[in-house]
Amino acid sequence: MSGASPRTTKQRNSRDNPVSVAFRPIRTAFWGVALVSFVINILMLTGPVFMLQVYDRVLASGSVPTLIVIGGLAIVLYAFYGVLEGVRGRILSRLGQRVDARLSGLVYKISNSLPVRLGRQSARMRPVQDLDTVRQFLSGPGPAAIFDVPWLPLYLGIVFLFHPLLGVVGLGGALIICVLIGMNEMMSRGPSEEAAGQAGMRMATVEMGQRNSEVVTAMGMQGALTGKWDAQNKDYLETQRLASDRTGLFGTTIKTIRFILQSTILGVGAWLAIKQEISPGVMIASSIMTSRALSPIEQAVAQWRGFVASRQALRRLREVLQIADGEPEKMDLPLPSKKLSVEQVFCGPFGETMPFVQNVSLDLDAGDGLGVIGPSGSGKSTFARALVGAVPALKGVIRYDGAELGQWPSDKRGDFLGYLPQDLQLFDGTIAENISRHRPDASSDKVIEAAKLADVHDLIVALPEGYNTVIGRTGRLLSAGQRQRVALARALYGNPFLVVLDEPNSNLDAEGEGALTSAIKTMREKGSIVVVIAHRPSAIATVDKILCLKDGKMAGFGPKEEVLKQVVQPVQQRMRAGAV
Ligand code: ADP
Ligand code: MG
Repeated sequence: MSGASPRTTKQRNSRDNPVSVAFRPIRTAFWGVALVSFVINILMLTGPVFMLQVYDRVLASGSVPTLIVIGGLAIVLYAFYGVLEGVRGRILSRLGQRVDARLSGLVYKISNSLPVRLGRQSARMRPVQDLDTVRQFLSGPGPAAIFDVPWLPLYLGIVFLFHPLLGVVGLGGALIICVLIGMNEMMSRGPSEEAAGQAGMRMATVEMGQRNSEVVTAMGMQGALTGKWDAQNKDYLETQRLASDRTGLFGTTIKTIRFILQSTILGVGAWLAIKQEISPGVMIASSIMTSRALSPIEQAVAQWRGFVASRQALRRLREVLQIADGEPEKMDLPLPSKKLSVEQVFCGPFGETMPFVQNVSLDLDAGDGLGVIGPSGSGKSTFARALVGAVPALKGVIRYDGAELGQWPSDKRGDFLGYLPQDLQLFDGTIAENISRHRPDASSDKVIEAAKLADVHDLIVALPEGYNTVIGRTGRLLSAGQRQRVALARALYGNPFLVVLDEPNSNLDAEGEGALTSAIKTMREKGSIVVVIAHRPSAIATVDKILCLKDGKMAGFGPKEEVLKQVVQPVQQRMRAGAV
C-alpha cells in the first residue's frame, strides 16, 4: 500500500476552464454583434455623405427636388441606424447576463470553499464581486465602443480617397491617439489592480465589524475600528483617484486632439479647396468623417477603466475556477461503513509552512468511540478538522474504508460525515434547514430523528414556530447551549458513519451532557465511529479509546483505561507532589 494519491489530477488546459466554457456559446453572438457593428458603421457615413451631396449637388444645381429626395433617404438611413444601435445594445446587455447565469452558481460554490482550499491567501479573493464586475462591463456601453474602433481604417480610407493629404493628416492624428491609448493602458493597469485588492480588504473590515457587532458595542470598539476603516478607505480612494486621474487626463487629451484634428482637416481642406483641388463639400465631409472615425476611440478610452477592471476580474476568476475544476469527475463510491484509518498524518491549515499536528496514526472500527484529550493548543481541533477534510493532510493519508475523502464527490461527503466544530456557527434559516444542512431532499422524519437523538426536539417544539423557527441574523437568537444542541443534531443528521464532535459539551448543562452521552452511545450502537474532543471528562464517559495529543504529537493512544492510567495519572501525581 503506498501513500500516493490515486487521483490523477490532470492539469486542465485553459480551454477547459469554466470561464472559457461559459464564453464559448456567446462567441457566435459576438460575431453577430460584429456584423451589426459593421452595418452601423456603414450607416454612420450617412451624415458626411448627405453633407457632401448638399454642398456639391444641391447648392451647385439649386434643385429643391434633389434636396427632398436625398433628405428623405438620409432620414430613412438614420432611422435604420437607430434601430440597429438599439438591437446591439440589447444583445450586449443580455450577453453579460448569460455569462453570469452560467458561472454564478459555480463561483458561489467555490467562494464558500476558498478559505479551506487556500487558507489565508483566500482573503484577497472575491470571485462573486469579480463576476459582478465582468457582467457590468459586458452589459454597459464599453463593448459597443470597442466594436466600433476597428472601423477606423474604413473612414480614414475614404478620407484618403478624397485627397491623400487629408488622409495623411487624419492618419497622423490617429497614430498620436493610439500611442496615447497604449500609454493609458500601461499606466492605469497597476492602480486598477491595486484598487481591486484594496476593495477586498475594505469589505473584509465591514464583514468583521458586523460579525462581531456585540463585542464592538459592548467594549466601545467603534472608534478604534473606524480608525482602521478610515485608513483602508483612504488608501482605496487614493488608488481610485490615481487611476481615474490618469484615465481622465488621457481622455481629455484625446478629446482635445480630436477637436484640433477636426479643425486641422477643415483648414487643410479649405486650403485645398482654394487651390481648387477639392470641392467645399469634400472639405466638410472629410472633417466630419475624421471626427467620426476617432470618436469610438474616445469612447473606448472613457470605458477603459471598466475594461481593464473586468479583464483583471476575468483573470482572477479563471485562476480561482482552475483550482476548483482541476478535480476530475468522481466515482459514486459506496458510503464507508467499516473502518477509519489515519496513517502517519501531518496536518494543518493550507499555506502554513509547519503542519501543526504531526505523525498521528490510528485505526478505528465501526462502533468505536474515540476521545481526544490534551491541553489547549495541542492540536485537537486541527486533528478534528483533518478527519472531516476541513484542513488537508499535508503528509500521510486518512482512509475511509480504504479510500481517501477526495474520491467521493463533495456533495456526497455529508452522507457519511457529521461535524460539530468548536467555534460553531449556525446558518441563517429555519431550525429544520439547519439540522438537515439545507439539503433540498431533507425529510422531516430524519430531521426529527436527529433532533431527538441530540435531545433538542422538546426544546424546538416549545418554540412558537417549532422546526420552522427562523434563526440567525434575520431571526431568533438561541442561547449558546441551544445552538450547540442544534449543531449536534445537524452533525447527527442522517446517521453518518463518522461523527466528529469538537468540544460538544462546552456550553451544556448537566441535562445537555446527559443527552450528549446517550447520543454518543446510540450512534456507536448504530455502527458509527464517534470522535469526541473533550476538555471535561463527562464527554468521554462513553468512548472506548483515547488519543492524547501534546504539542501536536501523539502522547498516547489505546484503550481508554490504559491511556488514562499512562497519561493522566503521572500528571496527577506530579501535581500532588508539587502541592506538597
Ligand atoms: P486545540 O483544539 O487543541 O486547542 P488547535 O488545533 O485549535 O488546538 O490549535 C493548534 C495550534 O494550531 C495552535 O497553536 C494554533 O495557533 C494553530 N492553528 C490552528 N488553526 C490555525 C490557523 N487557521 N492558522 C494558523 N494556525 C492555526
Ligand atoms: Mg480546540
